[in-house]
Amino acid sequence: MSSPIKTYCIIGDPVQHSLSPVMHNSAFSALGINSSYISFRVSSRELKASIESLKSIGIAGFNVTIPHKISILPYLDVLDNTASKSNAVNTVKNEGGQLIGYNTDLYGFIQPLYKRNIDFKGIKILIMGAGGAAYAIVTALSYEKEIDEIIIVNRSTQNASNLVQHGLKLGLNTHKDDFNNLPKLALQSDLIVNATSIGLNNESSPIGRENINPKSIVYDIIYKPIITDLLGKAKDVNAKVVYGYEMLLAQGAQAFKIWTGLDAPIHAMKKALFGIFGEPQ
Ligand code: NAP
Repeated sequence: MSSPIKTYCIIGDPVQHSLSPVMHNSAFSALGINSSYISFRVSSRELKASIESLKSIGIAGFNVTIPHKISILPYLDVLDNTASKSNAVNTVKNEGGQLIGYNTDLYGFIQPLYKRNIDFKGIKILIMGAGGAAYAIVTALSYEKEIDEIIIVNRSTQNASNLVQHGLKLGLNTHKDDFNNLPKLALQSDLIVNATSIGLNNESSPIGRENINPKSIVYDIIYKPIITDLLGKAKDVNAKVVYGYEMLLAQGAQAFKIWTGLDAPIHAMKKALFGIFGEPQ
């Protein structure tokens, strides 16, 4: 007899552009798993009631995106270390009626850097942004030993200060700096990370070609467009680039493993994202 169908979903607002349904449904189908994944637009006002409903219908698990990654915390029964340490949740598993929160953005961010054998010892890191993703990034970096310094630059200086405090608590040498100093800071950084929304609508990055050292690594966590203005400039000067879709895939693969206990079929997930054109080089 086949096992009963399990349902997974993503909740957020907006959520219609999420690539998680296509990625996870392709993974289920590649492994012949009798499960499906859908998206639900859930406003902040509806969050509590929606979580209760998902629990009562026995949802097997779900992802959480903007704007609920932090506000969902009080509605969960248990938090894994990745969630409690970053104070944010992007993945939930229902274990016998208990909702367990995880944050797979930590692994999602760091895995593409591991894949490139990045040595974190003594490096200077510039992070643009201080939103939910930036918290996951700083938390992921706190597991790496001997990073020299992390500089946070953000539009709202108060949000930058709060993230600096988070980094300091985790034992990282974290400072904030001014948006106007970005060109100079970028040139001095070994790893530049864009964790703002700048680039989602093809906006120009405040970092110019001339501010990118060809020896630096430039990581833009925006995955649509695949090649943001910042990554395009980094490629122009032959700097190493890390694409946002790599983080998307890695966080999704880890969520899949948490839910099913199986290694995610990355190849099928990539194929669902890129179709016949394949992965960009
Ligand atoms: P968030 O919590 O809403 O934070 C947004 C960040 O962008 C804040 O630092 C905000 O600054 C800044 N920002 C927004 N508009 C800006 C503008 N016009 N000029 C300068 N700064 C601006 O969002 P998030 O969850 O951190 O996500 C940030 C981005 O990462 C999104 O584009 C999201 O799609 C992407 N993301 C990708 C992955 C992946 O798997 N690749 C995972 C998570 C997120 P203020 O603090 O001043 O508002």
